Amino acid sequence: MAKKQFKAESKRLLDMMINSIYTHKEIFLRELISNASDAMDKLYFKSLTENIGLSRGDFAIDLAIDKEARTLTITDNGIGMTKDELENNLGVIAQSGSFKFKNDNTDTQNDDISVIGQFGVGFYSAFMVASEVTVESKAYGSEEAYKWYSTGVDGYTITDCDKDSYGTKITLKIKDNTEEEDYDDFITEYKIKGIVRKYSDYIRYPIRMMVGHSHLKEGTEDQYETHYELETLNSMVPLWKKNKSEITEEEYNKFYKEKFFDYEDPIAHIHTKTEGTATYNALMYIPSKAPFDYYSKDYEKGLQLYSNGVLIMDKCADLLPDCFSFVKGLVDSADLSLNISREMLQHDRQLKIIAKSLERSIKNELNKMLKNDREKYEKFFTAFGLQLKFGVYNGFGAGKELLKDLLLFYSSFEKKYVTLAEYVARMKEDQKYIYFASGETIDKIDKLPQTELVKDKGYEILYLVDSIDEFALQMMVDYAEKQFKSVAAGDLDLETDEEKAELKQKSEESKDMFAFMKEALGGKVKDVRISKILKTHAVCLTSDGILSLEMEKVLSHMPSEHNAKAEKVLEINAQNPIFDTLKKLYETDKDKLKIYAELLYDQALLIEGMAIEDPVEFSNKLCKLMTE
Ligand code: ADP
Repeated sequence: MAKKQFKAESKRLLDMMINSIYTHKEIFLRELISNASDAMDKLYFKSLTENIGLSRGDFAIDLAIDKEARTLTITDNGIGMTKDELENNLGVIAQSGSFKFKNDNTDTQNDDISVIGQFGVGFYSAFMVASEVTVESKAYGSEEAYKWYSTGVDGYTITDCDKDSYGTKITLKIKDNTEEEDYDDFITEYKIKGIVRKYSDYIRYPIRMMVGHSHLKEGTEDQYETHYELETLNSMVPLWKKNKSEITEEEYNKFYKEKFFDYEDPIAHIHTKTEGTATYNALMYIPSKAPFDYYSKDYEKGLQLYSNGVLIMDKCADLLPDCFSFVKGLVDSADLSLNISREMLQHDRQLKIIAKSLERSIKNELNKMLKNDREKYEKFFTAFGLQLKFGVYNGFGAGKELLKDLLLFYSSFEKKYVTLAEYVARMKEDQKYIYFASGETIDKIDKLPQTELVKDKGYEILYLVDSIDEFALQMMVDYAEKQFKSVAAGDLDLETDEEKAELKQKSEESKDMFAFMKEALGGKVKDVRISKILKTHAVCLTSDGILSLEMEKVLSHMPSEHNAKAEKVLEINAQNPIFDTLKKLYETDKDKLKIYAELLYDQALLIEGMAIEDPVEFSNKLCKLMTE
């Protein structure tokens, strides 16, 4: 009997398949089970259209392990294959019978026929674990059965064989163990059970296997015997395919905890069924806490991706935008086009449409929570708010529209969270800007001299405590047409005309003194001037330009060759007695004024929470003053 060669293309593909495409060898079982399920779908479909009288309950997939012979068999009672089909389907890779079948039936409106495999490579994954593959098949309605046999790349044979009933039986001769791979797994009952559960739990036909249970032999105390029972390994109906009304909160939560390995209930779930440009079911969860590695490089975002109940990919990153990377869950769609390997899903259009619509669903759910259950939302925000703010910042503000109404900031009013909408709604009539102040903690910001004037006007201030905050706001530019403004921006434009005139005059008078002080500080500040924002405190630092002091602090913690510096301005309060002291010194003792300038600058740094260059020198200068 002549051995036929695989077509050249097929040979290369097969080689690739065996050696590299699939990273987890265990997925061969998923492929073969999916094929069996497809074959049963086809026969069931035929039965519906041709009145054969078969019902769903008549179908099953049987797995059997023979440890002695090192074989694993997968038997189905699906539509089977004729000799030609064996030849065409299994002899040529990338010629998918499923694909053809589906196209041939496009005029028939039938939702029940859904074919998982779209491109003909799945079957060959068997060679990742088997040294020999035998396929015995009898097409439904045919008298003859045929056997396809292959040991891999060097070709295959097709011969007649005996087979009682229609369907297909695939026998894999499992490879011997190697140093890298424990092939014994694939003839080990509990391993096979695990693989079926992991990848094929929601196949809608029962996947059965004789499973051994050992128990004490009757009448003995230490002798065990094993009895075998036919068990269905898969649970068949996926939770997400049930109607929402049939699922209890407990069921949702239990599913989440089991599937996504969390001890705590999720804070919310989102269950959607969508039809239209993309048809899919999605079941997503928002965890109540951030996983320990969430804000690290190790965290991998993504949703599980199923094609009709068959797991294609465990973490499909393309389904989730980064700003919602905390979401766990799954998507099941029948109309995803799968590429050569189900593990390496094409970045295709369908997937993008689904991703976009999931993004909307997540946003809506969060919005709903924010509106209806503030306490819950604040809990959520405490866990994941940082990620939303990163979302605004990354991508040059592209996420702004999506995220701006989901942000919370602490407020100077009640030291509680406010949304930007709430802030704007209660802005004072004459208030032009949305004010913010940055610092390490709420308490520290609340005491900042720079907040005095704005507070005095009765304006609300957003207290920013996360390092990303200012960057995010700068990226947003405005909200509801109100620009964001730092209270430390120096020029807040809050004075009356009278105050302005007075300031101008004083600044003019002290021009030379400020120039002297600037000089004394040797380039550390861009300017020394009379403060417009201080009310009682003596000094503070502000910055000119776009880089704020807070940003300088953040950037200084990042590894970089040249850390960007804010353009610092030392502001002196003309209402504070220190101002008169400085003026006097300028007339009488310039050396001392120099020391005062340095001391004031260091104090301003300390107020700002920034390090002073030479603390010892600072202390010495103070002590000298104290002992004079
Ligand atoms: P795919 O399933 O992606 O089409 P495969 O290489 O897994 O590609 O299978 C090739 C073809 O062989 C299938 O499309 C199908 O027509 C046929 N086939 C595979 N397994 C079976 C089976 N158990 N019963 C009937 N036909 C099968």
